[in-house]
Parts: sequence; structure tokens; C-alpha cells
Amino acid sequence: MVIDVPGAAASLENASAVEILRWAAKRIGKLTFATGFGAEGCVVIDLIAREKLAIDLFTLDTGVLFPETYALWRSLEAKYGVTIRAVKPELTIPAQALVHGAKLWERDPDRCCSMRKIAPLRAALSGFDAWITAIRRDQTPERANAQVVEHDRKFGLVKVNPLVAWTHDDVWAHIYANDVPYNALHDRNYPSIGCEPCTSPVSGAEDPRAGRWRGTTKRECGLHVKEG
Ligand code: SF4
Repeated sequence: MVIDVPGAAASLENASAVEILRWAAKRIGKLTFATGFGAEGCVVIDLIAREKLAIDLFTLDTGVLFPETYALWRSLEAKYGVTIRAVKPELTIPAQALVHGAKLWERDPDRCCSMRKIAPLRAALSGFDAWITAIRRDQTPERANAQVVEHDRKFGLVKVNPLVAWTHDDVWAHIYANDVPYNALHDRNYPSIGCEPCTSPVSGAEDPRAGRWRGTTKRECGLHVKEG
């Protein structure tokens, strides 16, 4: 599969998310969507299912997701008739505690994310030509320059970001207009949701991602940080 990545990024810059997903499903052979069940991910699943696109779906099940996130996972599968595969780390939480000590996320969250997210993602993406993500440019400074289609040098494949130009309000307008299931925690001051031990609610004045790894300088799990 040969894709003119810069050319595709330029030609799709003003395309709708559906047009981007249709292009990816048509042009890319082995394509997958990795969702973390954020509001944006729920929108992408809605669009993929609505368009009946043959795109693999999976999530990184770290073993310490919120009960509300596991409930959302089942709701999305039931509503859209899809299977969202669970990709799991090598070690269970008890096994990780035995080998690396309990609550590694409190002492070394980068190492914990590396073992429970990045390594499983790397293994899950091997064999695919491209992956779809639900990132938006205005979420973090690290995502500000993301393109609709780009090389992902970290994982060695093409990355397609259909919602990259969407705003927070665009996402929620789509959710409400289309009755898309979303995480119940969003209605309880959790705008950004990851693993339960590393996510806390935010106050109205805080950055939406302030509740992720609170008390540390960490803002990304490393999945969408560019290399090279
Ligand atoms: S978010 Fe927290 S618990 Fe989840 S993998 Fe990263 S450090 Fe570990």
C-alpha cells in the first residue's frame, strides 16, 4: 500500500470526518481504530457504524478503567452491533504489583503507561497499514500540529485523524444530535477520562486535562507524541 501522505493530508484538510473515514476505508487495506472511549472516540464509532465501514475496532484495556467506561464499552457494542476488541497488557494488575510493586502509577506513571498502554498498542498495531485516532488539535499543545493524515513514526504506520479540526463543541453537538452513548463521568466533571487511578474531576476554571495524572507534569500517555 502506497499513500501520498502529505498529498492526502492537504486534499482532505477541509473534508468532513465522514469523508475522511470513507477515504481511509477505501484506500487503506489494513485499517483499525483505537478508541479510549472519550467523547471523540464515541463520535468516531458512531460515524464508522453509521457508514457501515469495514474498520477494525479495539481499545487498550489497562485493567484499571472506570466501571463507567466498561459500561460504555458494552453500550456502544449493543447500540451499533460492533465488536470492540480488548487489547491487554502482558501483566495483570496483580502480576505487575508482584514484579514492579503496588500502584506503580503513583511512583512511575511513565513506566506504567509504557507497559500498560504503549507496548500493547505497539503490538496491536503491527500488521496494520494505518490507524485512526480521535485526537483534536485543540486538546493539547502536542496535538496542535496534527494533520488529517500523517506518518506515525513512533509506531511505523500511517495515522488518520478525522476529528482533528473539530472543536469540543462540535463533538458534543454531534453526540446530542445523534444520541451517541458517552461516559457518564463526563456529566460529573470528568472532561478527560483515562485509567481510574490517574484521573480526577476538574473544577470549572481548570484545563480539561488537568485531572489526568494530577500532581505531576505528565499530560500525555505517550500514544500521540511525535517522534523523529
Ligand atoms: S494512565 Fe495510570 S494506570 Fe493507566 S497505564 Fe498510565 S500510569 Fe498506568
